[in-house]
This record gives sequence, structure tokens and C-alpha cells, in this order.
Amino acid sequence: MTFEPTKEFAQSLDAGDKLSRFRESFHIPKHTDGTESVYLCGNSLGLQPKKAAAYVQEELNDWAELGVKGHFDKTFPWTRYQEFLTEPMADVVGAKPHEVVVMNTLTPNLHFMMVSFYQPQGKRKKIIMEADAFPSDTYAVDSQIKFHGGDPAEDIILWQPRPGSSTLEIEDLESILRKHGDEVALVMIASINYYTGQFFDLKKITDLGHSHGALVGFDCAHGAGNVDLDLHNSGADFAVWCTYKYMNSGPGSIGGCFVHERHADNDNLDRFAGWWGHNKEERFLMEPKFDPIPGAEGWQQSNAPILSMAPIRASMDLFMEAGFKNLLSKSVSLTNYLEYLVNNIPGDRIRIITPDKPKDRGCQLSLAVKNADKSLFKDISSRGVIADWREPDVIRVAPAPLYNSYMDCWNFVQILSSEL
Ligand SMILES: *Cc1c(COP(=O)(O)O)cnc(C)c1O
Repeated sequence: MTFEPTKEFAQSLDAGDKLSRFRESFHIPKHTDGTESVYLCGNSLGLQPKKAAAYVQEELNDWAELGVKGHFDKTFPWTRYQEFLTEPMADVVGAKPHEVVVMNTLTPNLHFMMVSFYQPQGKRKKIIMEADAFPSDTYAVDSQIKFHGGDPAEDIILWQPRPGSSTLEIEDLESILRKHGDEVALVMIASINYYTGQFFDLKKITDLGHSHGALVGFDCAHGAGNVDLDLHNSGADFAVWCTYKYMNSGPGSIGGCFVHERHADNDNLDRFAGWWGHNKEERFLMEPKFDPIPGAEGWQQSNAPILSMAPIRASMDLFMEAGFKNLLSKSVSLTNYLEYLVNNIPGDRIRIITPDKPKDRGCQLSLAVKNADKSLFKDISSRGVIADWREPDVIRVAPAPLYNSYMDCWNFVQILSSEL
């Protein structure tokens, strides 16, 4: 589609958008002047579905009225609460239901997955990560290596961008593996790099890792709810994600975990077990020998934090109603439009470091600003833009297709270009 820079054109795109009504289902934070702010920060914290409060209240009411009986005697019994999230979540990440479980938060899940899928042996003990990974992932990998008696300085191999570039090339991962393949135990990459917004080819990475005898896992914090992860077909051994970014389930909300079905019945994998991962029929017999549930649920430890899971139900309802495929196609159009407007800003101060092909990104664009410091970001924030700033010079903006409009993109670019 050819875009036009006018406000009328943005309005006409919104008028033709079949998903525009979903914006009404969210609380949009207000700017100081009482108007809706230009919220482009769903990559950091997704907005609150209006239904979330009622879903949480329902559980509070059940707790008040039923007490312990709420574990069993109600529409969404607490002992099974996480199961009601599995199918919609599996749909969004492209997995089979028994490959997905909603539990814990992201970094603990990454650790628990590495307990099972990082098994250094002899010289095969290294982990490949992307350079400039999210710090929590680096801390997790670093500490897992130390836990196994290794030395992170030696055992982490970074997949680096080429000089002058911010994004990564698959050929460079290939050459790392050609050189070090027999020393690599695990390839652990984000699905989308949080800084550049680059979406990696999960299947290619998985095939490469596997062909060299390594296991492969992904941190999908920026991928889940944003792009077509197609986790099952990627063949990845495991994946983890959070639900407070594109999944709109609230600050610190419970994360998700994927374990490929080829590992579903493997009781020999090391794991840190807990009673919620134990055979459901016999869980309450309270016997000492652990008998894992086949599939991802077998990695659960504790009974589910219901009040934190209730908003996920509200969010998943909206994903299901809108249809994830429809959201993905709006996302491509919305982001292409934002890119067009940004590239139309006069002068040369803005450079988009996110890849320009839709297949290599989600909805986030990372804008590197020449000769800028955080004051520019403060200026656009004072005019009602909610985005985020990453040192030294990057503004990240992410129009989320469930609640952002073409007018949001237009307003953002008006404000940014007038402050430049
Ligand atoms: C957001 C994010 C995290 C945050 O981890 P939590 O355990 O949820 O605090 C970790 N890794 C990546 C890649 C992220 O984008």
C-alpha cells in the first residue's frame, strides 16, 4: 500500500481498520491535559484490558464466599486455573497445548529450563547468546555456567553484529558453529532483540544448533503476542516469555514456558521439581516419589497465583476474539506506516536500526537519534508520548495492533519531528 503523510490519511486508515474497536477494551493512560496519551510502550508494559479488574474481582469474591472450596467447586477452579490459559497461549505462540504451561515469571523459567536443557559435558559446555542480550538473560546464563563449575568468560560465545551494524547475520552464527560446534551445549537467543527489535529466524537457528549437536532455546519476551513464533515448527527445545509486554496481563504477571513435545515424556532430564508438576490424579495422595505430568506442565512447581493469572484470562479473551493472524497483519501495516512517517521526517537525525523487512521484525521500531540526549525524550514525553529511551541514543516505539491506532503513529511523528 502507498501511504500519504497527511492527518486525513491516518484517519482514513483507522476508519478502515477492522480491529480498531479493540482499543475500547483497554484503559489508555491520560496525559496531564486530560487527553489520551500516545502510548507506544507495549514492548515494555502492555495496557490494561478493562475486563481485567472484573476477572480479578471474581476470584476475590470466590475466595470470600468459598474459602478453600474454591480450589474445586467453581467454574474456573483454582487447582486447574492455569489450564484455562493453555490453549489460547499455545495458539499465540504456535505450539501444541501440551507443550505450553503458564507459570512463574520469566527469569526463573529461564533458569528452570536451563536446569533441564543446559547439561555441559566434557568440552561441550559453551552457550551461544546474542551480543547485547537483555541483561537478565546474561546474568542467568552467566550464573548457570558458574553453577556447573564453568567460566563465563570462556564458556559464553557472543553472536556479534558486524562493524557499523546493529543487527545480526545468520551467516555469522553459522561460522561460529562451524568453528566451535562441538563445544556448544546450548544456543540461547532472544526471539526478538529487545534493543534493535530484530526478529530472528527461530527455525534456522534451531536447525543450525541441532545440526551441531547443541540444544536450542529462546527467550520470547519480545516475541510472544507480537510475532508469529511458530514454536512447535521451529523445533526449539524450549522457550520462555513474559505476559506483561505484548500480552497485556499486568506488571510482573506470570510467564509462559514451552517445552517441545519430543521432551514430553523424558523423565531422565534433570529438573527442579515441585508438587504442581506431579501426576494430577495422585497429587493429593501426598506421596514422596515424584511422577511428572507428561509435557510442559511437568515443569510446574507451585500451585498457581490466581490473582495474577486472572488478568491473563482477560487478555487472552481479547487475543482470541481479535484472532492472532488478524493482529499480525494489522501489526505489519501499522509498523510499515510508522516507518514511512519516520523516514519522511526532514533532516538526517533519525536512523531506524530495526530491520526494514516485516519478516525480520515485530511492531517495535528502534530509532537512533543523532546528537540527542535524554532531554529530547523528556520533551516528547512532556507532550504526551509514552515510549522508552535506551542509552546512549535510542527511542523505542512499538504500536501494538490490539490498541494502537494509525493516529497514534501520526501524532508521535508530529511531536517528535517538531522537537528535533
Ligand atoms: C523483559 C525481559 C526480561 C525480564 O525478565 P523478568 O524475569 O520478567 O523480570 C528478560 N529477558 C528479556 C529478553 C526481556 O525482554
